[in-house]
Amino acid sequence: MSDAILVLNAGSSSIKFSLFVARDESLGPMLRGQIEGLFTHPRFVAKDDAGATVSEKSWGEGTRLGHGGALDHLAGYVRGELAEHRLIGVGHRVVHGGLEYTRPVRIDAGVLAALEKFVPLAPLHQPHNLTPIRLLLERQPGLAQVACFDTSFHRTNPEIAQRFAIPAELHDAGVRRYGFHGLSYEYIASVLPQHDAQAARGKTVVLHLGNGASMCALEAGRSVASTMGFTAVDGLPMGTRTGALDPGVILYLMDQRGMDARAIEKLIYNQSGLLGVSGISSDMRTLLASDDSRAKTAVDLYCYRIRRELGSLAAALGGLDAIVFTAGIGENSAAIRERVCRDAAWLGVELDPAANADRGPRISTAASRIAAWSLPTNEELMIARHTQRVLGSA
Ligand code: ADP
Repeated sequence: MSDAILVLNAGSSSIKFSLFVARDESLGPMLRGQIEGLFTHPRFVAKDDAGATVSEKSWGEGTRLGHGGALDHLAGYVRGELAEHRLIGVGHRVVHGGLEYTRPVRIDAGVLAALEKFVPLAPLHQPHNLTPIRLLLERQPGLAQVACFDTSFHRTNPEIAQRFAIPAELHDAGVRRYGFHGLSYEYIASVLPQHDAQAARGKTVVLHLGNGASMCALEAGRSVASTMGFTAVDGLPMGTRTGALDPGVILYLMDQRGMDARAIEKLIYNQSGLLGVSGISSDMRTLLASDDSRAKTAVDLYCYRIRRELGSLAAALGGLDAIVFTAGIGENSAAIRERVCRDAAWLGVELDPAANADRGPRISTAASRIAAWSLPTNEELMIARHTQRVLGSA
């Protein structure tokens, strides 16, 4: 009987899960899936390691299953699948660990209370991340749980990189740059030595380009700067988020358009980015396939902002050895990788078009002064590894 770890990533309307099993010295994926539409039209799907659907269930339109009902279904399903294995714990993705949690932590009532204090820092994500933790603490107090944070990996940033130019009192109260997508960057940093020992020891910029998008500067595998700040809306334009926006725009919207905090929140998180600029879609595939000039503008702006942030992060590093593309767009879109690499020619990136079309993993020429890579990220595996380590069974 081998050990198994369940990884949960709970959002406002879905719970994603992955099940890992300890095999020899490593953790292997067994199942993954999600329950989405928790409050509207719940649908459950589980897939095996090869991507084949192994279980499905749909609740009728209008069913309010909620996180509790979804967890009940998941728990029953996982129990049924684990006949041969022993569930040693659950690892959770939690967006905010504040300054306090610089690494994953085993959860008890005290830790949960501490994490609830960060809800105002990430009101759109933190409450949903914490709901399954609270429910499992109540329902299965004997089940070990570990929280893994999107912010922790960036706590190695120098103090100056974490600072806004605002009065010190606000900085001391926690209004500072935290950075996000840390589990993805940590995973990439963990596999980079296998691909590029020099970059792993040196200066690398990782581009996490998914629905959410950010970039991180790594020095010897440690985060020294990133594009996301106090919240995950800063930095690059994303599927529906603005990215960096002059704060004067917010004041203008309040004064001239009478918008309140909730209306502005909706605008900057849900109605902007690729969707807002194109007026067509937040999905990069749709935009790349479109002939509409607005789609072209959205893609142009996306690449332009990446180009500028790359220069900024290279400057923060004081040099550059490699760039690494990851997440949905970074792993799958040869067209975006090509544009970003061509824009970075001045830095010394020389694209190998054939390797890029083939997904690399190395997509730069042998002569390129700066190496370019396309590497798949795996935040779930990172969480499972942390959970195994924290629970002491590694
Ligand atoms: P999330 O942040 O939700 O985990 P993903 O990492 O899955 O998001 O990335 C989703 C994005 O990846 C979408 O914009 C989607 O269009 C894009 N994407 C996926 N495959 C491709 C592809 N072949 N070409 C271009 N974009 C792609």
